[in-house]
Parts: sequence; structure tokens; C-alpha cells
Amino acid sequence: MTYKNFTLEIDKDGIALIKWDMADKSMNVIDESVMDDIAAFTKELSENDTIIGAVITSGKKNSFSGGADLSMLERSLKTYHAEKAKDEETATQKLFEGVSTLGTLFRNIETCGKPIVCAINGTCMGGAFEMALSCHARLASDYDALRLALPEVQVGLLPGAGGTQRVSRLTKDMQSALQMLVQGQRLKALKAKAMGLIDDVVPAKRLIPTAKKMIKDRLVDPIAPWDKKGFKAPSGKVYSPAGMQLWPAANAILRQQTAMNYPAAQYILSCVYEGSLVPIDVGLKIEARYFTAAMQSPQAANMIRSLFLSKGELEKGARRPTGIRNTKIKKVGIIGAGFMGAGIAYVTAKAGIEVILIDQTQEAANKGKTHSDRLISKQVSRGRAKAEDKEKLLSLITSTTEYKALGDADLIIEAVFEDGAIKADVTKKVEAVIKPTAIYASNTSTLPITDLSVASKRPKNFIGIHFFSPVDKMLLVELIMGKKTGERALAIALDYVHLIRKTPIVVNDSRGFYANRCVLNYVREGHIMLTEGIPAAMIENVAKMSGMPVGPLSLNDEVALDLSQRIMQATIRDLGKKAVDPKLMDLIDTMVDKHGRLGRKNGKGFYDYPPKPAKKHLWPGLKDMFEPISHVDDIDVQELKERFLVAQALEAARVFQEGVITDVREADVGSILGFGFAPWSGGTLSYIDMLGSKAFVTLCEKLQKKHGDRFRPNKLLVEMAANNEKFYERFNPKIDRKTEA
Ligand code: NAD
Repeated sequence: MTYKNFTLEIDKDGIALIKWDMADKSMNVIDESVMDDIAAFTKELSENDTIIGAVITSGKKNSFSGGADLSMLERSLKTYHAEKAKDEETATQKLFEGVSTLGTLFRNIETCGKPIVCAINGTCMGGAFEMALSCHARLASDYDALRLALPEVQVGLLPGAGGTQRVSRLTKDMQSALQMLVQGQRLKALKAKAMGLIDDVVPAKRLIPTAKKMIKDRLVDPIAPWDKKGFKAPSGKVYSPAGMQLWPAANAILRQQTAMNYPAAQYILSCVYEGSLVPIDVGLKIEARYFTAAMQSPQAANMIRSLFLSKGELEKGARRPTGIRNTKIKKVGIIGAGFMGAGIAYVTAKAGIEVILIDQTQEAANKGKTHSDRLISKQVSRGRAKAEDKEKLLSLITSTTEYKALGDADLIIEAVFEDGAIKADVTKKVEAVIKPTAIYASNTSTLPITDLSVASKRPKNFIGIHFFSPVDKMLLVELIMGKKTGERALAIALDYVHLIRKTPIVVNDSRGFYANRCVLNYVREGHIMLTEGIPAAMIENVAKMSGMPVGPLSLNDEVALDLSQRIMQATIRDLGKKAVDPKLMDLIDTMVDKHGRLGRKNGKGFYDYPPKPAKKHLWPGLKDMFEPISHVDDIDVQELKERFLVAQALEAARVFQEGVITDVREADVGSILGFGFAPWSGGTLSYIDMLGSKAFVTLCEKLQKKHGDRFRPNKLLVEMAANNEKFYERFNPKIDRKTEA
């Protein structure tokens, strides 16, 4: 028998080695053709009498599989929605049957009658790990970076092919197992072994021989423990003293961690709890039902679209101008070795690119390089990098004050003080020494690129590359097109972002670009609530309940209160007094000028930051700044949540109307990666689509009436509401995902 994606070789002992190696993909994924193959080889295993057992492994170096191809799930969702319009019940039943297919295939592996060992040679995720769990034994190689995970919850789904049922029946440590499932944690092999999910970790070279020997020595029972009479789960029963301690707490922790914004996380707990009370086949059915429900949730559809498909498309260069050859960037010059420049130097050198790091003094330049030393040393001490990685990375960074070192740089990134005159001076000095083809980028956070490019003799090669802090952690980069920026500059900037493994969005020039505009509205809403007398703790908690990763006051502390003060002063200077509410200016002036509270950087902001191990806590003085609301119980928590999300989503709609963002995917992906906009919604524009433009505009108008014109819906939204349109219908990017998988 031949298979499209697998090879099957039977050795002299009758042990089949099934190797998964998809010809046209760098990583194995489960798609329709893989499912056909799994059905076929399972049949061969049970019917071919010369086979006594099998080892399943992957032919990809250090990688087993990334799991199910999510574009396949997106396609079945599309079919479901098309059929739902005609007959919802039949559409749901069909979806259920569709999602049960993979689970049935894995159950067939488990019950084929022959012992099967999964030899996990590298990272094994999602559906692929579920397949491994359905084998009768699992060995993992000792490859450092190997990770095992069921990360479905991160795109609004749950492991729907037996993952929740087998993990809960295998594990000795239910608490860790629930965390792994509910958070989609990536486990190292040894941790998975300690939890009882894999049998052993063996040297990579010994992986296949050990797996075969286990079969030959008859150490592998071809009947799963839960298929035997009297099976007892190693972690104990639900109805037991231990179960009674675990389950109520698990529910409370879930509520605290997710604010119930993620239906799939709730379904996972239900699958494990309900599944533990019944035989495996019933458990698998329960799981498939919950999986169907998760698939039907708008959260899953939006999260799959933004966090997986769109993110992947942007990273693969969806916005890259065509017809421009890929540039091999070998050397990058960074001017300004401060907070941002030092971070940019690190991520650049980490990608194997040579860096010239320039500052005004040798001492300042060296200090910037020390940042890289600190970060990579931390990685080494945690076992995530080797000593030679550190040596290589540091050897790539040259700290200097000499501009002439930039002569053969392909790209320059300027990260000096946020001052137009200083930046202009740097532009001139740099352009005097660089090669004519080099691209010049500014990391400015507020100054329009078109204005900055006036200092350049070659504005076509002048672009904005806007990083977010901390640079090594934040995944998003905004590329800003000035009026004269050319396509080649954009293409090269995109090539660079690709090399440093971040996600780019392309933004047209505007005050604050995209992400900062939205996030300023979020922080401002927190300030306004404070002036209304809403308790600070409530503001922070409600923001997190809406799905934001950090509260607005905490976020403001991170970016610094004096920076907010400078931004507000500049806004008044440029746009007039009315542009900033005097109450808010007064709040920040009081915090900064009267109380010297600058944020985390001086240990005093909206929070106090006592020395570790003590935790930060809200500054008690906040209580005395505004008349508190007399009846806290009267505060409408739902409305507070809406204010936070609407303030940001409405700004995104304005940015879109102005043509600053031109692709709906960029608005959504940028909002989640750039400022953590409620990931459950799929991003700012998906949030509007999820509510429906009509309902969103009605909500804006309700908030406008009560809280003022900042909630006035913009023209585009009003027009869309009149026609009941969605962003992803009216502005849907033309992508054929079948060919992109
Ligand atoms: P910073 O003050 O930490 O660093 C600026 C560095 O530039 C200093 O080391 C300074 O010595 C150096 N410098 C000043 N003039 C110079 C010159 N003529 N030649 C060489 N070096 C010079 O500031 P930062 O926070 O790193 O910000 C740098 C830029 O990045 C600004 O434009 C800022 O708006 C932007 N930015 C900042 C953030 C942030 O969160 N801090 C985020 C995105 C973008």
C-alpha cells in the first residue's frame, strides 16, 4: 500500500515503521489527505498478518507535527454557516459528524488490535499529540526544544479528537493537566512524563530502536487501560475527597483567569469532568459535542481568522509589493542605544544579522550592548540558549560612535530622542555615509514620517519601523508609509521584520499611527472613570474582565505618566485647548508635578511598587483625589466593560475610515499583538462585526448620550449600520486560503 503523506516499512521482526513526511510542507499538518492516509494505514495494520505492531514517527527533522490545518477547519465553518442559513439543525448535525471524524480515526488506531508506539522526534501539537495519545505507548526524544501541547484553546477551540479524554485518563496530576488544557501550555518532555502523558524520554538516536524493542519484547499492551474492566484513572475519581478539593477550585480559577470570555475554556473543564464519569466512547462523544459548540461560537471563528490565518498571511508577506526581489539583509545600523535602540539591536542580532549600534558617547553605546548581554545571559541560565549562542550574538553587535561604520549597512533604524531637530540632524549625518540603496527607518512613536523625511535627500528610501516595548517580547511592528516612501523601502522593511520573526502591519502616516491611537483611548477611558469617582480597583478589574491583559492605570504606569503628560501637552499645542479635557490634564499634572508619581520607572504611579518580594498595589492617595461614587452597587459593570472596548474599536473604525489602516486583517491582528485588545473577540474590527454594525452603532449612540461625543460613531460605521454590513464583507481581502494552507 502507498500513502500520500506517509511511508510504511515492515522490518524482519514484522514491525511497521510509519513515517509521516508531507512532501510539500516544511511541517506536517493534519489535512483531509492525512486523514485518508491514517484511515488506510490503520486498516493495513489490523488486516496485514505479517505486522505484529507499529511505530509512528515523523520524517521531519526535530518536528513531529503542528497539528490540524486550521484552514481546513475554517473551510468546514464556512460550509456550516452557508448551510445554517437554510437549516440550522441539519447543519449542526453535519458539523458534529465532520468534527467526530478525526476522533474516530484515532479511536480506530487505539482499538486496531496491534501495539502501536508513537516515537515523538520533535514538537508535537494539537491533533498530532491527540494521535500520539491514542497510541499504546509514547516515547519522546531528548531534543532540547521539543514541546508537547494541546493549544486549541488559544484559537477558541478545544482538543476535540480525544485529547481531553485521554489526558484526563492518563495523568497522575489532574491539576497540571487541567492547566495544560485550559491554557494550552507547551510541555517539555520531562514534565509530560512526570504527568504520566508519555512513557519515556530517550536520546534522539535511540528513539526508533527503543520503540521497536518495546514492541518486540512485548512490553506494549495493545489494549488501552480504559478499555479494560475495572479501569481506575490514576488521578482518582471526581467524587472523592481529592476531587471535591480540585473541582470547585478549578471552576473558580477558570473564572478568575478568563472572566468567562472564552467558551472553549469552560467546555474543556466540562469535557474532563463529565467524561470522567462515563466510559471512553461516551466521553469521546461528549467531547465532540463540546467541540461542535466551540466551533459554532463567534469567538472561535474570529480567533482562528485573526490569530492564525491572518497573522500567518501577514507574516508571509501579504502586504509585500510584488515584483521586488527579496533582500538579504546582512547589516543593520541602529542609531540611539537607549531603551528602544538596545532592544532592537538584540532582536536583530538574535536573527543572525550584524549590528552597528551607535550613540553619542562610547559609554552610551556600550550600555546599549550590555542590554543584549543581559537578555541572552538570562536565556543561557534558563537553558533556552547555549554559551556559544551568547558568544555569537554578542560578536554580531559593534557598539561605536563612528558613523562611518555604517558604510555597507543595508538598513538603518534611528531610535534617538523623540525630537524632530535631533532626528533631522541624525538623518543628514547618516545619509552622508550610507550606500545609496540602503533604507533609512525611524522608530518614532509620534512624529509623522512625511515630516521627518523632509530632512532626507532620498525620501523614497525613508520609512517608519515602529517597534513596541519591550522590543524582545512584543510581536508587532508597524511599518509607516510616508507620503513619498517607495515600494522598495516597504519590501525591504518587510523582509527585515520577517527575519526578526515579528508580525508586520503596514500603516499610512498619521498622528499616533494605529496602535497608539487606540491604546490612548483605552488609557483615557480609565482616567475618565477615575475622575467620575469609580474606585481604581474596580476600573482595573473591569478592564481585565472585558478581556484586556492589563488595566489602563497599570498600563499607564508602564509607559510612564510624564510621557502621557508630554503627549497631552503636545496635543494641546498642536490641536488647541479643547483637544484635551482639562479634568484629565489636571489629573496627570497632579500625579506628576504635585506628587512626583511618574509610573513604574520611579516606583510611584497609579500603583506603588515596593521592593520585591512585595507586590505592587494601588496608591492609596487615589481615593482622596476624586469624590467617590456614593453607591458602588449602582455602577453598571457591563457598561464599564463596553466603554473600554468601544473606545478602542471605534478608534480603529476611524483609523480605517481615514485610510491609515487599509486591510481589516491588519487592524485585527495589530490590535491583539500591539495592545492586547480582547483576544477572544478576534480584534477591534472583528469585535464590531461580532456585535453587528447596527448594534455597535446603537451602543455607541447610547454611550454618546450618557458620556459625550467621544463615542459618536463615525460616518463609515453609520453607513455600514444602515446597510447592516460587516467589515469582513465590505472590505474582505481576496485570499484563497485553499492554496495558502
Ligand atoms: P531613550 O532616551 O531611552 O534613548 C535615546 C538614545 O538616543 C539615548 O541613548 C541617547 O543618548 C541617544 N541619542 C540622542 N541623540 C543622539 C544622536 N544625535 N546620535 C546618537 N544617539 C543619540 O529613548 P527611547 O525610549 O529608546 O526612544 C527612542 C525612540 O523610540 C523615540 O523616537 C521614541 O519615540 C521611540 N519609541 C519609544 C517607545 C518606548 O516605549 N519608549 C516605543 C516606540 C518608539
